[in-house]
Amino acid sequence: MKLLLSDWRVADDLQQTLAVSELWPSLNWQGQQIQFKGPVQLSLQITGQQKSLLLRGEIAANLELACSRCAEDFLLPMRCVVDETISLADEDEQEMLVDRAQDELDLSELGLQVLLENLPLQPLCRPDCRGLCSLCGQNLNRGNCDCETDPIDPRLAILGQLFRQDDQSKKEG
Ligand SMILES: [Zn+2]
Ligand SMILES: [Zn+2]
Repeated sequence: MKLLLSDWRVADDLQQTLAVSELWPSLNWQGQQIQFKGPVQLSLQITGQQKSLLLRGEIAANLELACSRCAEDFLLPMRCVVDETISLADEDEQEMLVDRAQDELDLSELGLQVLLENLPLQPLCRPDCRGLCSLCGQNLNRGNCDCETDPIDPRLAILGQLFRQDDQSKKEG
């Protein structure tokens, strides 16, 4: 969805309410494959203030992405607040969301940026995802495998040692 800016440049205190529903293509972001399930809903109140536009509202989308622990795809419903100010000044080349040639603001791109800013860095299919067995690769959410593993993740074991050392040094100190 693009917003033509010419009307907004001349008006002062102009307001418009927008509700857009769009289907977005999947994308790859920082190594994560993201798919959008169903339409993305963008609802905005736009206020023109001479050289700037205030955009307030929210964006809601259902994202399908891979769990960072077990690699299974899962659905992540997101609902994020949009609160952006866009400069309409011609000299403001920093405004990447504005297409100067077409004089348009890309609302979809703005919504996408808000979603990506709020995306968890390490998405989990559920808070207590047990991940994969490091030996056989079994998804431990589906049940235990037959591998005889130390129940403590080796990386956590090192942390455990550090905490114990810390405890000791506290007692000694
Ligand atoms: Zn998982
Ligand atoms: Zn295993």
